Amino acid sequence: MSDYRGFSYWLDSTCDDLTPRPPLDTSVDVDVAILGAGFTGLWTAYYLLRRQPSLRVAVVEREIAGFGASGRNGGWCTSNFTLGASELLRRFGRDQAHATQTAMFDTVDEVGRVTREEGIDANFRKGGEIYLARGPQHLAALQSSHKAFEEIGLSGYSVLLDA
Ligand SMILES: Cc1cc2nc3c(=O)[nH]c(=O)nc-3n(C[C@H](O)[C@H](O)[C@H](O)COP(=O)(O)OP(=O)(O)OC[C@H]3O[C@@H](n4cnc5c(N)ncnc54)[C@H](O)[C@@H]3O)c2cc1C
Repeated sequence: MSDYRGFSYWLDSTCDDLTPRPPLDTSVDVDVAILGAGFTGLWTAYYLLRRQPSLRVAVVEREIAGFGASGRNGGWCTSNFTLGASELLRRFGRDQAHATQTAMFDTVDEVGRVTREEGIDANFRKGGEIYLARGPQHLAALQSSHKAFEEIGLSGYSVLLDA
């Protein structure tokens, strides 16, 4: 068996014994089969069952839950869309950028809500984000992002601080 604890702090510090669940020994008939017990698979199973508890959902994982990126990441629950606000605005316009960014904000609150409601001890704390410019070349990117937040109607979400 793999030494799963050695893969990450999260796997090392969980109270689960990380023993892989028994494999399927026969064909099963389900409504939804999900491959992979990472965040994508587990959130999908969670919402499907919340909406329709009678659904038969099977999550089939090759190793253990959280074996992939979900169990090895920075643990940072962020509303930052990979493209950044300025690029969202440039590519998709104000309305789409606003809708996308707002949906991203909602995801953070949703993670908080579910951890609270389900009693998941994930040390969730919503504390905002600070981006630092490590030189003048980086400051321009922060200013551009700040301006983009204003332009898409979310000015309250970004504050420019000085040194
Ligand atoms: C180093 C690193 C740091 C990161 N930091 C952050 C962060 O701080 N904040 C953040 O929001 N995001 C972060 N991310 C991104 C985030 O972790 C991923 O976007 C997210 O975990 C992806 O989840 P997933 O369920 O799609 O994939 P995974 O977590 O990779 O899950 C896929 C699962 O599928 C299983 N699998 C694969 N093939 C099969 C198969 N054929 N049959 C059955 N099972 C299979 C795998 O074993 C795995 O468990 C980081 C990513 C990395 C790599």
